[in-house]
Amino acid sequence: MKPGTSLAHLVRPNVAAMTPYSSARSEFSGEASVWLDANENPHDFAWSRYPDPYQRELKVEIAKLRNVSPDQIVLGNGSDELIDLLIRAFCVPGRDSILTMAPGFGMYEAAAAVSDVRVLRTPLSAPDFEFSAAEADDEVDGTTRVAFLCTPNNPTGNSISPNEIRSVLHDSANLADTIVVIDEAYIDFSPHPSAIELLAEAENLVVLQTFSKAFGAAGVRLGMGFMSPQIVEILNRIKLPYNISELTQREALRSLADLAPMHTSVVALINERRRLETELGALASVVHVHPSDANFVLVRFHDSELALKSLLAAGVVVRDRSTQPGCENCLRISVGTPDENTVLLDTLASMGGQV
Ligand code: PMP
Repeated sequence: MKPGTSLAHLVRPNVAAMTPYSSARSEFSGEASVWLDANENPHDFAWSRYPDPYQRELKVEIAKLRNVSPDQIVLGNGSDELIDLLIRAFCVPGRDSILTMAPGFGMYEAAAAVSDVRVLRTPLSAPDFEFSAAEADDEVDGTTRVAFLCTPNNPTGNSISPNEIRSVLHDSANLADTIVVIDEAYIDFSPHPSAIELLAEAENLVVLQTFSKAFGAAGVRLGMGFMSPQIVEILNRIKLPYNISELTQREALRSLADLAPMHTSVVALINERRRLETELGALASVVHVHPSDANFVLVRFHDSELALKSLLAAGVVVRDRSTQPGCENCLRISVGTPDENTVLLDTLASMGGQV
């Protein structure tokens, strides 16, 4: 969709018609010294005041980091919240649908189910879960409002090629008239460029990222959405007024002030991922380690149930993905510290070639 195209026809009609909740503070833009508008406690407690509903200071820093303008950002209580907001803003319950990739991240389906929104799935192809823009375009119909594409994908770990993403945005017949969400939760571990650079080409593009992975701040709960100011305005209509706590905003600003720990951690995790890929691949119990651009690997075993049991008995918890489409006998294993990875590898090695 060309920059500047109106998205009005995609917005849920009651969302377009509603009067958003507004606080005295979000309406006020001057200087004030006495704040008696929000029934806060005026005494000297650390967090007695409501946070900035639009997180302006934090957005300025995130904008610098990702080379966008602050008015292209919506922040969420994790990117999970942004996924839910997108479905609630654009999908009419009982009528509309979303597109996801199969296998894929479960949150899109969970959020769709809560909103009574149908899920259409584009299957990824063997042997390593390739995405095809043309097949995805065939999968959707006139009810599809949001397409969630994940790169690197969870749980497969592989990336959608930049050409396929361009093709979704520019060459597709049906997807071109949906909100196209590129979920980049794992982008910092990937050699591919972020789709943020395509925002200038497509009004309907939303790019999701998170503080939960490379930034090592999953407990903080901060997700970032990058999109056209038109979509920002739509999501701001329905988000909870104070969805990002002051603690979260302060902590995120603190981690943005020094990116060195993040960069060091990413390099270490990529090195350990390579080690896991090599050493897991050499085990008798392993059939295939799917190539990964993320901080985890999807591993196909001869018998994943047996592998899972052995790992659990050793106190090592991994994610069973064996019931996901195309993932028979697969476990998803997060990259840990070198010592943690050694425990994992030793446990699997001691199983021998049992199948
Ligand atoms: N998208 C993907 C692909 C994920 O794997 C995850 C977390 N597992 C999320 C989004 C949600 O991340 P957050 O912690 O920001 O809610």
